[in-house]
Amino acid sequence: MNLPEKVTICEVGLRDGLQNEKVIPSTDDKLELLHGFIDAGYKVIEVGSFMHPKKVPQMADTDEIFKRIGQVPEGVELRALIPNTRGVQRAVDCGCKKVKLNVSASRMHNLKNLNRTPEESVAGFADCVKMANENNIAISGSISMPFASPWEGRTPVEDVDAIIEAYLKVGINEISLSDASGQAVPNQVYELCKHVREKYSEASWWLHFHNTRGAAMANILAAMQAGMTRFDASFGGLGGCPFVPGAAGNISSEDVINMLDEMGIETGIDVLKVMALSRKVSELIGHGLDSYVLRAGRSKDLIASQSE
Ligand code: ZN
Repeated sequence: MNLPEKVTICEVGLRDGLQNEKVIPSTDDKLELLHGFIDAGYKVIEVGSFMHPKKVPQMADTDEIFKRIGQVPEGVELRALIPNTRGVQRAVDCGCKKVKLNVSASRMHNLKNLNRTPEESVAGFADCVKMANENNIAISGSISMPFASPWEGRTPVEDVDAIIEAYLKVGINEISLSDASGQAVPNQVYELCKHVREKYSEASWWLHFHNTRGAAMANILAAMQAGMTRFDASFGGLGGCPFVPGAAGNISSEDVINMLDEMGIETGIDVLKVMALSRKVSELIGHGLDSYVLRAGRSKDLIASQSE
């Protein structure tokens, strides 16, 4: 099987996970979790977002978290999601060094909500790129629903290409393909990953899978086979809306890390530490989590516990 030796996992639970929760941990608790992730070995962490605090109140303390985190170990990248240049300004003001923009690949969704095509949205990001460059802030872009959307079904590859080209044109070449609606399936993931890697060799890629229909793990495997090595995951599988039957969050970090550990693929992350953080956040938010490994434990620990 064609697999990478090393994979980078970005922990997105503090952003994608907590932004859907009703009970939000305090800023102190978030900071403790963030320190915990750094201690567990994560090199990339999505800390929060600079959206309007009225729109996403769960992320209103992102600025404060960046101000209070202080000096992070070398090689650790903390990123935040931004909607526009106001987001870049907030990043500048609080010391955030990496930001991420997002656009939906759904033409219909974009036209209906923003009255422009996805490519027009991305062209509008040029101001953000300029401002980020002037302030030494790294900038990346994400494409949500590049595989399929709830409104239009399968996303045509030409549409994804057009958005990638728009990103490259404004000077963003780190791009995340985000299956926010959890509709992607492995053969499609493999084909699209292979296609974009071959066609846009100047770009670097992230994959972001939600486990809404249970296919996220298989999608990660398919993406790795197509040469992808960077994945988002969320501790405890946080995300989506846990109170709505059928909704699901991001693929659980500990499930991914445990699987990669067993496959001999290096992540540099201590899964036991991640599991402890998941138990902690479960207490903080007051409900159980959607993570297999948290329920069943690591496979590695089975033999040890039997011989006791
Ligand atoms: Zn997501």
